[in-house]
Amino acid sequence: MSELLNVAAIDRIRTTTDGEGVTTLVVSMGCPLRCAYCINPYTWDGSVEKGKYYTAEELYNTLKIDDLYFLATGGGVMFGGGEPLLNSSFIASFIKKYKDTGWKFNMETSLSVSREHIDEVIDLIDFFIVDTKDMDKDRYKLYTKGDYDLFYSNLKYLLSKAGPERIRVRVPAIPVFHQNKEYEQNAETLKSMGFKDIEIFPYVDPSQRKGISDKAVENKEDFLAKIN
Ligand code: SF4
Repeated sequence: MSELLNVAAIDRIRTTTDGEGVTTLVVSMGCPLRCAYCINPYTWDGSVEKGKYYTAEELYNTLKIDDLYFLATGGGVMFGGGEPLLNSSFIASFIKKYKDTGWKFNMETSLSVSREHIDEVIDLIDFFIVDTKDMDKDRYKLYTKGDYDLFYSNLKYLLSKAGPERIRVRVPAIPVFHQNKEYEQNAETLKSMGFKDIEIFPYVDPSQRKGISDKAVENKEDFLAKIN
């Protein structure tokens, strides 16, 4: 069991993107995907210097300031990243320890992890948001450095185990890449799989972003060269 969580950022009083109620986003370090337009490239390597380590108690003490908001609105904690499932042990322990708070425990994930990570939290997370990137294998491989077959089998697995009521699938509309509205095909694919909560989610054009890291610029330029 991991006893510490390496946290890149904590973002309070969120009301629009994490599902029901007021939420606090806990951004954990580490991600295997390397998406071309990633807005959190500082999470990629999960390096110690860049994050802050929390014990479960320290994290709870930080989050509880919004206890009343969570309870009054049906909100709670959103575990995001990076890829929060890389920290499934910590998250599972944390939820078991604090399940009596009455808070909701949600997770935004890209599911690009081994199955054991999903199994550790699947019965503990109230609501999943799955960032699907692209449902076409070739496009997925172009946009990310992830394993499409792993993602796709995990997506089907999560649907079969958690059911569509506990999952929102987020369908990115990616500037330049999806210029022919390929995200509409992606949404149709997800609908045919049995998902009901499907959200088209416009991404930010990387040229609009300030403070983009060298790593992210390199990744983005590599991607744009391939699609041009
Ligand atoms: S899943 Fe993609 S966008 Fe999200 S943190 Fe990882 S690389 Fe960045």
